[in-house]
Amino acid sequence: MPRSTTPQTLNSEITISGHGLHGNRPCSVRLAPVATPSGLTFVHTPTGTEIPARADLAGDLVLATTLLKDGVRLQTIEHLLSALSGMEVEHLRIEVDAEELPILDGSAAPWVDAILQAGIRALAGRRRFMKITQPVEIRDGGRWIRALPFDGLRLRYVIDFPIPALGRQSRELSLTPDKYRRELGSARTFCLAQEVDQLRARGLALGGSLENAVVFGADGPLNDSLRYEDEAVRHKMLDLVGDLALLGAPLLGLVEAHAAGHAMHVALAKAILANPNCWEWTEEAEPANVRFFFQPLVSQPA
Ligand SMILES: [Zn+2]
Repeated sequence: MPRSTTPQTLNSEITISGHGLHGNRPCSVRLAPVATPSGLTFVHTPTGTEIPARADLAGDLVLATTLLKDGVRLQTIEHLLSALSGMEVEHLRIEVDAEELPILDGSAAPWVDAILQAGIRALAGRRRFMKITQPVEIRDGGRWIRALPFDGLRLRYVIDFPIPALGRQSRELSLTPDKYRRELGSARTFCLAQEVDQLRARGLALGGSLENAVVFGADGPLNDSLRYEDEAVRHKMLDLVGDLALLGAPLLGLVEAHAAGHAMHVALAKAILANPNCWEWTEEAEPANVRFFFQPLVSQPA
């Protein structure tokens, strides 16, 4: 499936309910189509506060991505944003009746299913991409993330944990909606068993369980099975796709991340937005040789 060249919203509204990973409170999310391209806008329904999904409104990034505006916070938005961005639905009203979005099964798959059930509809106009023209890099000791010029959107991610059950994992892929759904969307969030008590003592992960997270002990996952052998690095890529949605427009570039997390993902988005000399607007989603030939000239790795 080629990447869409038109802005997209949903075809019909759909409501998803569940409970938050950290606060364990119930939450309903209504995804409502918009008539004109206007980006992704959250609405905290108890206060009526509208919060655009934009990097400059993101904060509190330790274990989830949070939007903050006018004293209202919306936590754990990244898996919904990832599903929307991965499926190229970039214009939507997202009504939320609590301060933390439902964790569902810990992946983006239930959100992807909801998007497919509601259907995707094209809006008038052309889709505009932010094309990286100069490298943008964020570094913090041995952890780093950078965006480099590239035709299309390609992600390369490395994680390296000092426990054998996780260890070093790396994965790379060029993103399309099909690949997002098959390769990243159902990878679940994860943590280390040794962290769980610490998290709970801080009032975090109160809604966490083996139903919505993979928990890695010294000898392997405590869950019955993994969805992918390298589910952890795939989930980090899922998170990255969600955090990059805070750019407010689809990206064209190669994004490489090494032992990064939400704070670095969002820092990269902020750095790109703050450096308009490092990117330019384009309506061309694919390089010419991919768009105009029936077969790619060179077979590309996934
Ligand atoms: Zn996540």
